[in-house]
Amino acid sequence: MTTGKIMLVGLGPGSVEHMSGRARAAIAEADTIIGYVTYIRLVADLVEGKEVVKKSMTEELDRAIEALDRAKQGKKVALISSGDAGVYGMAGPTFEVLFQAGWTPPTGQPGDIEVEIIPGASALNTCAALVGAPLTHDFCAISLSDLLTPWPVIARRLNAVATADFVVALYNPKSGRRARQIVEAQRLFLAHRRPDTPVAIVKSAYRPKQRIEFTTLDKMTECDIGMLSTVLIGNSNTFVRDGLMVTPRGYANKYDVEAGTTRDGEKAGRSLSTGLDGWLETIRTSDETVEELARRHGLPADYIAAALADEDVENLTFHRGPGAANGREDAPTAV
Ligand code: SAH
Repeated sequence: MTTGKIMLVGLGPGSVEHMSGRARAAIAEADTIIGYVTYIRLVADLVEGKEVVKKSMTEELDRAIEALDRAKQGKKVALISSGDAGVYGMAGPTFEVLFQAGWTPPTGQPGDIEVEIIPGASALNTCAALVGAPLTHDFCAISLSDLLTPWPVIARRLNAVATADFVVALYNPKSGRRARQIVEAQRLFLAHRRPDTPVAIVKSAYRPKQRIEFTTLDKMTECDIGMLSTVLIGNSNTFVRDGLMVTPRGYANKYDVEAGTTRDGEKAGRSLSTGLDGWLETIRTSDETVEELARRHGLPADYIAAALADEDVENLTFHRGPGAANGREDAPTAV
């Protein structure tokens, strides 16, 4: 029996130019293409003569089961997703269906089914690219869809990232039937972030109906947000200038950006003076109690106590590399 294959193809945002070479090759290689009709249209030039199974949005498990059936017959099946197939896409449900059916990774036996995941640019990458550089510092993605996730789980995650000052990309922010989730998300964020925190709403990135809107956290719910929008909420340092949303990486902490010189007390290629070593030194020599330090730094008191108590810290943090023996400093890390 010939080996069947399931290819989970991420198409990127929805324009042919932003599709990867491997994604196009995988579709060209496939006997059967399964996917949502909009995405099949995108690759219309490649699907001629192939079996095409058009599915609606909500039939994800059916799509995976259908892919498995075809692969069992020795066919090559391309399951196509927008963005990346592993980001709120078909990759997860496909593996769930495969495992349920007793599938195991190929071992070279007849009847093996191969699985290949072809990465694509996800909405957070493409929407970020259209608005500037909003994700240059720590960020995360949260889907506001409660179709498969209980609201308290979503709300807890929103609350956690709002507190921790992440930049956040909200997927599935709103639909005809789910209009209140974005309002609740805003409420949770406003408890921790400034009302004028920059927000960008990107609709249909790299598609004919593309629309970009800049707003602020307190006003974002007044904007046009739909199923095809991704909402990017900045962190406390994010700014908008000349139509570009930028989250600083932190160069200004270390360098005088205009002059290009290193700030007093800082060294190129080394941790900041407020990095781990410097911070440990500060708390070690501080007059404050563990509780006061915990409050000041927004960290658990247990963690501060453990960091202070750890005798190995001295050895760990002031450890020098091989260069130290002959008086050289460790080589700075490349960025
Ligand atoms: N696998 C996809 C995400 C699927 S969930 C990916 O990696 O991008 C669907 C959500 O993705 C939408 O509700 C929207 O929030 C976002 N999205 C997908 N394509 C988009 C596009 N072209 N422009 C803006 N947002 C998009």
